[in-house]
Amino acid sequence: MTHILHRHCHSQLPTVTCGDGIYLFDQQGKQYLDGCGGAAVSNLGHSHTAVKKAMIEQIESIPFAHTGFFTNQASEELATLLTDLAPEPLNHVYFVSGGSEAVESALKMARQYFVEIGKPSKTQFIARRQSYHGNTLGALAVGGNEWRREKFTPLLSEVTHISPCYAYRDQQDNESELDYSLRVANELETEILALGAENVMAFVAEPVVGATAGALPATKGYFKRIREICDKYDVLLILDEVMCGIGRTGTFYAFEQDQIVPDLVTIAKGLGAGYQPIGGVVISDKIYDAIAHGSGFFQHGHTFMAHPVACAAALATVQTIVSESLLDKVQEQGKKLRTKLKESLLPLSYVGDIRGRGLFIGIELVADKQTKTPLPTSTEANKVVKQLAMKHGLMCYPMAGTINGRAGHHILLAPPFIINDKQLDELVSKLKTALVEAAQGWAL
Ligand code: PMP
Repeated sequence: MTHILHRHCHSQLPTVTCGDGIYLFDQQGKQYLDGCGGAAVSNLGHSHTAVKKAMIEQIESIPFAHTGFFTNQASEELATLLTDLAPEPLNHVYFVSGGSEAVESALKMARQYFVEIGKPSKTQFIARRQSYHGNTLGALAVGGNEWRREKFTPLLSEVTHISPCYAYRDQQDNESELDYSLRVANELETEILALGAENVMAFVAEPVVGATAGALPATKGYFKRIREICDKYDVLLILDEVMCGIGRTGTFYAFEQDQIVPDLVTIAKGLGAGYQPIGGVVISDKIYDAIAHGSGFFQHGHTFMAHPVACAAALATVQTIVSESLLDKVQEQGKKLRTKLKESLLPLSYVGDIRGRGLFIGIELVADKQTKTPLPTSTEANKVVKQLAMKHGLMCYPMAGTINGRAGHHILLAPPFIINDKQLDELVSKLKTALVEAAQGWAL
């Protein structure tokens, strides 16, 4: 009997025993290809020598020292590297232990910034309906996923949610890509004016939406217009790169592909590549300076922030991404994987769309390709596809998201950056087998 409260109380999970490259093994010796990096975490696979060595060396020198008393070399070097990889004026980092903590920290930082600069009436966040920003109460409040929010709604602070940028579903036939981008981005301006610009603190969005929309990038021009609107009304732009950052989309920060610079960026997951839990907020000069020259401290903090072993693992991870030119590999393998998936899966009547950037790829399942009607919830596709994929030795990340308020299903793929061509074929073939088998139970 287990004494753990697992995510799903009644699920029988295999016990993992070891990892080798992009594969995991259970107690029975069964091999699983990690097609989703867990949840876009394991970007270097499961047995990376340099990362393990860095952690061991750190444990042997100093495993922990509270940040109220000391800084540590690993966190200092990591902050330098992360800001060197970021455009100006993103020159500072705040380290925490995961994605939700990173988002909570960014939200509070936005608030403190406006208090410091004498605009305390700014208290409201605007975010998007199809989004996930974490499970702690602040992060859950900005997230737009109804299923995750519903039991906790009375505990959540009020946040306004505007439309996501979701061309596959919402771009009109007679509308150009740019017109569509401007139409949805302009909802932000309408909302700011409705709330009063003097009351709005920040807009929060994922550059490529992960868990609620299956690797959904914004269309061209969307984030440029969002940036203009934020600047016009003195509203901060917080981009949540917890899932899509750290090289996952083929550039180190996902927002680079949208040619904008945000005020705050949250990172986690791939930062420690799963070797250690770590997250962070990358901060622009104006916010850092307001806090440093105002109160002189950020009124927040966690016991394990800037943990030396987590920072050592993250430093080795990011150094590996740079020294082994893994961003090029992500772009190259990502392109190949999308092509192979389109060839293999688009002919299936229930595969509506295949999208994404780099090795962050989403597959949207539909009941009808023409009408794009979402798969009914009753198919339980998220559970069934996952179970069958695991049976065939593949980890993929199927989700039941919401599509404009209706149920919808996506499969998220985010394999380690080190995946080779043969393994791409194995991934696609196993996924197809699981999907075809799952679909036999759907009366479409
Ligand atoms: N933001 C985004 C975009 C995420 O995808 C997630 C996790 N899926 C989080 C925040 C929360 O991160 P964590 O689970 O590490 O708290």
